[in-house]
Amino acid sequence: MELKMHIAGRAVASASGKVFDKIDPSTLERIGTVPRGDVEDVERAVSAASAAFHSEGWYDMAPADRAALLFKLADSILANKEKLARAESQDVGKRLSEAEADVVVAARYFRFYAGVADKIGGETIPIGPDVLDYTVREPFGVTAHVTPWNYPLQMASRSVSVALATGNTAIIKPAEDTPQTSIILAELAQQVGFPEGVINVVTGFGGEVGDALVSHPEVRHVTFTGSVQTASRIMQSAAKNNTPVILECGGKPPHIVFSDANLDAALPVIVKSITQNAGQTCSAGSRLLVERSIADETIARLKKMMGDIDLAPGMDDRGMGPIVSEKQIVHIEEGLRKAIEDGDEVLLGGRRRTIGSSDLFFEPTIVRAATPNSHIARHEVFGPVITVLVFEDETEALKLANDTPYGLATGVWTNELGRALRLARRLTGGQVFINNYGAGGGVEMPFGGTGRSGFGRQKGLETLRYYTQTKNVAIKFN
Ligand code: NAD
Repeated sequence: MELKMHIAGRAVASASGKVFDKIDPSTLERIGTVPRGDVEDVERAVSAASAAFHSEGWYDMAPADRAALLFKLADSILANKEKLARAESQDVGKRLSEAEADVVVAARYFRFYAGVADKIGGETIPIGPDVLDYTVREPFGVTAHVTPWNYPLQMASRSVSVALATGNTAIIKPAEDTPQTSIILAELAQQVGFPEGVINVVTGFGGEVGDALVSHPEVRHVTFTGSVQTASRIMQSAAKNNTPVILECGGKPPHIVFSDANLDAALPVIVKSITQNAGQTCSAGSRLLVERSIADETIARLKKMMGDIDLAPGMDDRGMGPIVSEKQIVHIEEGLRKAIEDGDEVLLGGRRRTIGSSDLFFEPTIVRAATPNSHIARHEVFGPVITVLVFEDETEALKLANDTPYGLATGVWTNELGRALRLARRLTGGQVFINNYGAGGGVEMPFGGTGRSGFGRQKGLETLRYYTQTKNVAIKFN
């Protein structure tokens, strides 16, 4: 399989002709090659996206027509669910059914923002009897979407859908390990009739093609999801042109479980939130904060549930798939090494495993932190590793929950309404879930971080303001 970039409606090799290998993490087989893009490919993509925005008139197209194309793309994504899911599972290693669910969510993003494409209005502002003052919400122009390897299709769809609905054009830079579904997405857009250059995909390494993209002066907006370190590099590169950025950089989300919680309801959700996609999820519930009186029972049940999860290649669709790459599994091992150094207790798992021909599997892992200052209690591991801390009361629970450099999401499990609402107000981060985690939705709810988790909001109607800029027009008519 020789993958190609997607520029100006065409499948193209990198300008340099260079490629790199694509590995399936479930088997470690080399399954093809990916074009290794550089500055020249970025130039081609930016000029295509810019032409689509300016001269070809994506923004000037009637919003209802833009919406119709976005609806068609959503339908086409669903019609190609199996193809997309298999490609995603092959790239990421995730379970096939999880990849299928991702495809459905991707289609929902396009459908959701298709629905608002023709409803984004401005306002009139009263100034006086002889002035008509009104605002319009205008797109930025060419937008860049630098996406991570954990949910490649979902992440690309989440920001590209709203960018296009608001009249921008888009260039996706997928993570080097997981380019397939972004390329297929651009091909599907082409097939359903999107004008050339509205969606482009450049592939390659972050420091090469990614940096060239975000520092390009004609790129007017950058959406990034990934690591804190790369987020800060991206901000610096974008700052050269004062380009606005949205940054979503993960976190250390806690589940706070009080003694009055319904553990039967809480535990399956907590386990799923740390084992889905092998824990490689920015909002993975990677900390369990549990009230002392129920700590032993909760930990014992958690051990049993996580211990029962087997490891299997993504395509087998059971248990938990592999970690995406050697680099990433080494990062997880490093987290465990630091935990042992800090005197934390590994209650379950803690090691990588070989299944079939791949040694990229990591056991579901529970670590009881020696103190709240343990490295693993405060920093992202990005694997199937949950850290447990025990608290005495609500005050301590809140302190522990907020005691990381991040702020993304929190799950609170209690039946006491007052306590739930007090915590909802005081917890840092972009989302609080009471007696659930994710609410079985996602597309509709604003999502994003505080602190090192980043800034800007994606999803829901809230994100529309991040992809448009307001112009005020004042007309004096006397
Ligand atoms: P990364 O942040 O380096 O990569 C994310 C994306 O940024 C990729 O597309 C990459 O090519 C690109 N990129 C890298 N350097 C760039 C640069 N200088 N300019 C422009 N683009 C650049 O992530 P990683 O190294 O693959 O993963 C490391 C850690 O990141 C993980 O352990 C995890 O903690 C975190 N992460 C978070 C998320 C999330 O959903 N928030 C997703 C993936 C990884």
